[in-house]
Formats: sequence, C-alpha cells, structure tokens
Amino acid sequence: MLDVIKLLPDSVANQIAAGEVIQRPASAVKELMENALDAGATQIDLVVKDAGKALIMVIDNGCGMSETDARLCFERHATSKISKADDLFCIKTMGFRGEALASIAAIAQVELKTRRKEDEVGTRIVNEGSVVKEQSLIPMASGTTFVVKNLFFNVPARRNFLKSAQAEMRHIVEEFTRVTLMNPEIGFTLTADGKEMYHLYPGTLKQRIMGLFGNAYEEKLLPVDQEADRVRINGFIVKAEYARKTRGEQYFFVNKRFIKHAYLHHAIENAFLEMIPKDSFPGYFLNIEVDPADIDINIHPTKTEVNFLDVKLVYAILHAAVRKAIGQHNLSPMIDFEEPADLNSDFSIAAKASRPVVFPDIPLDPNFNPFNQKTENHSDSRSWNDFPQHRQPVSGDWRMLYGERTDLNEEKGQPEPIEEKQSNSRYLQVNQSFILTTVKSGLLLIDQHLAHTRILFEKYLKEMENHSGASQQELFPQAFTVSQNDASLLKELLPELENLGFVLEQVNPTTFMINGTPSDSAGYDAVELLERILDNYKINRTDLQLDRKLNLAKTLAAQIAVKPSTKLTEAEMQNLVDQLFACNVAEVAPNGKKIYVIVTTEELLAKFN
Ligand code: ADP
Ligand code: MG
Repeated sequence: MLDVIKLLPDSVANQIAAGEVIQRPASAVKELMENALDAGATQIDLVVKDAGKALIMVIDNGCGMSETDARLCFERHATSKISKADDLFCIKTMGFRGEALASIAAIAQVELKTRRKEDEVGTRIVNEGSVVKEQSLIPMASGTTFVVKNLFFNVPARRNFLKSAQAEMRHIVEEFTRVTLMNPEIGFTLTADGKEMYHLYPGTLKQRIMGLFGNAYEEKLLPVDQEADRVRINGFIVKAEYARKTRGEQYFFVNKRFIKHAYLHHAIENAFLEMIPKDSFPGYFLNIEVDPADIDINIHPTKTEVNFLDVKLVYAILHAAVRKAIGQHNLSPMIDFEEPADLNSDFSIAAKASRPVVFPDIPLDPNFNPFNQKTENHSDSRSWNDFPQHRQPVSGDWRMLYGERTDLNEEKGQPEPIEEKQSNSRYLQVNQSFILTTVKSGLLLIDQHLAHTRILFEKYLKEMENHSGASQQELFPQAFTVSQNDASLLKELLPELENLGFVLEQVNPTTFMINGTPSDSAGYDAVELLERILDNYKINRTDLQLDRKLNLAKTLAAQIAVKPSTKLTEAEMQNLVDQLFACNVAEVAPNGKKIYVIVTTEELLAKFN
C-alpha cells in the first residue's frame, strides 16, 4: 500500500498555525508591542492604517537584534526567551513560544529594521509569506521597527472575515490599552490614519489611566494596595458612584498580563455588590502579582486565561482588598466634624449653672420686612451692621432666624429664654426627613431613612455571620399562614431568620407561629413584617440575584429603618450620625442611593453671588 501521509511544506504549516495566533490586526499589534516591551524599550510607537489591514508599524528603542537574529526571528519556535521546557513554568516575559513573528510573516508582507547599540549599522529584512525577499544593511538609530503590510494578503478567507474598520480599530485600541496600562513607566503613542489618537507619557499608573480614559478619572479612582503571603494586589478601582451602565473599564492583570477570570471578577463585583445600582458595572484596573510557580498560564498566545493553584485564597484577598479600598474612601477626611463650639461657650456654662440667662440687647425693628426694603436703602457703602435688624442672634437661637418672630414683637421686646438643648444643638432635622449638621468643609445633609437602612443592613449581616441577632419574645404569638411556595421559601430562610432574631415554629405545612421577632422591630406587626420580607426577598432574588444573606439583610433593613417624615430627637440624630460613620460603607445605601450630600462652603458662597 502507498504511504499517504505527507509533511506539509513549512509555508503552509505556518499559515495554518498563523490563523491561531493572528486572528485579526489587533493580535499582530499585541504581539509586536509585547516583543518591544520584552526588548526593554522605553518608548514604543504604534502606527496603523485602515484599522491595521493596510499597515501596522511598531517602532521601539529596545535592545535590537544582530543580523543573524534578525533572520532567525521569523523562524517558527525561534525565541530568545525559553531554552528548556521547564522555562515554560516560570515565564515572565510576554511572548513565549517563538511563534508570533513566524505567524505574522506567513500572512503578511513584513519589513524589519533593527540595530543593536553595539553595532554600527542595522539590518533590514523583507519577509513575505515566510520567504525572505530582501536583506541589506542600513544606517538607523538603535532599536527595532516592524512594518506589517497587507495582513492576510494570501489568506483571502481570513481577510474577508474581518469586521468593519471601526470594529477592528476598537480591537486594536483595546489591545493597546491593555499593554500600555501595565507599563506606565514606558511612553507610547498610537497614530491611526495619520491622526495621533494617544500620546502617553511615562508616569504613574494613575496618570496612565487618565491618559487613556480622560482626566476626569483623577476624581474617580480609589487606590488598592494589598500585600499578603505570596500575593500582591495593586491598582485602582472606580468609585461606586461612577459605576457605568455598560461593562466598561474592567482590567485585570496577572503579573501584568491581561486576563479574563470570571471567578475573580466576581470577587470584585461582590465587594461592590450592595453599593452600585443594578445594571451597573464596577470599574477596575488591578494587577495581581504572584509567584509564577503558583499559576498555570494557558500558554496559547491568544488565550487570556490563567489558573491559580489556590484561587480561593486569591479570591479572598482580592475581595478584602477592594472592600478595604471602598471602606477607606468612605472614611474620607472630607467629613471632618466640627467641635461643637458653643458647648463650651459662656452661654452654655451659664445655662448649666442654672443662672438666669441674660440676653444681649438686640435692637429689633418689629416693622422690618425684608421684602419691603426700598432699593435706595441698599447702598454698597453700608455695612452689615448698619442694619440692626440683621444682627446675628447672639444666643445662637436659630428659631429667631426661622420666622418665629412673634415673641419678638411682644412689648417686652425680648425673646423667651431658650432651652439649653436647642442652643447646643448640632443637628437640625429638615422636613423631618433629613439631618442637617455642619462639618469642617460645609454643610452635611443626611437622609435619615437611607442612613438607618445602611446601619441596620450592616448590623443584620453581622448578626447572620455571628448568629447573634437579639430577639424579643411575642407576648401573643401570631399565626402566619402562607402559600405552599412561600412556606418552602420560609423554611429555606429559617436559619438566617433565626439568626436575625425571628423565632418561628412550623405548626402545619403552611402555618408558622411567630414566637419572637428581631429586637429592633418593636412596633411592627410581626405578620406584616414577615409578609413584606418574603415579598421583597422574592423581588430582590429575581432582580438582583442577591445572595441569600445580603437579600435578607437588605429587605429587613429597608422595612425597619426609620421612615421619612419621622420626628427625631437630638439624641436620636446624634446616634444615627455616629452609627452611620462607623459603618463599613457610609456613603451609599444598600439600594445604591447616596446617603448624604455635603454642600461645601465654596458652594454656599457661590449661591450668594
Ligand atoms: P517570542 O516573543 O515568543 O520569543 P516572537 O516570534 O514574538 O517569539 O519573537 C521571536 C524573537 O525575536 C524574540 O524571542 C526576540 O529575540 C526577537 N524579537 C522580536 N521582536 C523584537 C524586538 N522588537 N526587539 C528585539 N528583539 C525582538
Ligand atoms: Mg513575542
């Protein structure tokens, strides 16, 4: 019988293999840029025409190649980066199979110009479809330039398969972004069809992110830096309030190599979970540094996958690192509470000593009406004190400023003595819904309901972790009857509900006796509370796919938290504020809404212009 197996000629084998390595112009961009990095370049310029289909040029100032290496580099498995198979396990450089240039040359017209510092002249080689067409010596600066023209010129099927120029360009920019992000100390440019799209100067990672995504990122980033045994995570996350509706800036690197890792992505998403609205995505630029021996990179050059020996550990560290960054941000120095200055004022001491309060004599014009003021009275030369009726109420009694002028109009001409409580008041309730207080930078306005929701949410999460929810016994246990479905859901939730302080006892397939409820649910009808919990739990489950504990904590917190339009005492407000800023995340409620706003002094001043 005749032998049927034949070896493919190299050129054909190269073309087939090339299809795996170089799928589109962006793949060639990536390989060439990574080679330039490996060559130790400090400046790398990328030039493309027609989204790389007509031209891809990468110019670097790296180590260059000798004449022999310049010829050899196009050979399959020609690499200066591995010599034994063992090295595959501790790869630090970017490319590592000596396949990229062979692949590119198999499907394009490639011109290479390269010179090492120590050589007097450079080498120029033209390679077309794996065949060296020209070779000559040329004068040039040290470094390497690869010019790749007419990609897939000899593989029409591939060429036709390419997407629109716009789409291919997006891929190129994406590869450019990935490479440049992790190398901020290196300068890069990208020029497309004669127009410079990016000019990235050497700098810090933050500056690089701003160079790539715009200066607005200066405000948006939170640093992450966490070092643990064998793992170091650093980079930036985007603050929750800037989370985007589209899966935007999510950049994950392992040892500076871009990877996709659904499980680790989840660690970040989970750390943000309660903070960003549904349908929004967190942004991040993070590098995980690990010992190369602890990972197994799928060495296929186009794959962006990595396996970790202990991925659970990396998950935990990553989650903690992101949480820490969010937490630190929320304890930002912006919220610098003022010392209650009036506490030690003479007035307050006098009041404490229950001496009669003597009010300074404030001349008041009972007929004063700010809206009747004639314009000619307002001459610029007059100072504030020229209008006696504008004198500040020295006692600090804010009631005088807020329309309670009746007592001032009485014959005695003096206000009633003011209770100490009000004069020392650091907190003012606005519309029985917001708490107003001053901080060093201006006014702080807190939504009381959202603040309390956040406090309870974190408390409930902790209680479920520690099985520590306090319970109050119901004097008259109520029966809670539900549908079959709800009964099985309730049974499923029973352990967590008990940790929160509910004491439920199933008496028949669809009825539970409520013997106890969480201690802070006093005043709520137990049946109604449980009904609401079940309803909201189901909504959260389908809308947000929250995990069970988060869901329950969120649901219960929203139910029990103090409602808007509820009057709070000074002590209650104080308590709420103190507890809010002791939370892990004081800034946003579990539903993603902002809990407080700060109106800065500058903003206030601007309002009076
Ligand atoms: P790999 O990067 O996996 O080694 P490549 O095919 O990408 O394989 O490159 C082959 C070899 O060519 C590299 O190992 C390197 O020695 C050399 N080389 C490629 N690009 C450059 C460059 N820009 N500067 C210097 N040497 C280069
Ligand atoms: Mg390479």
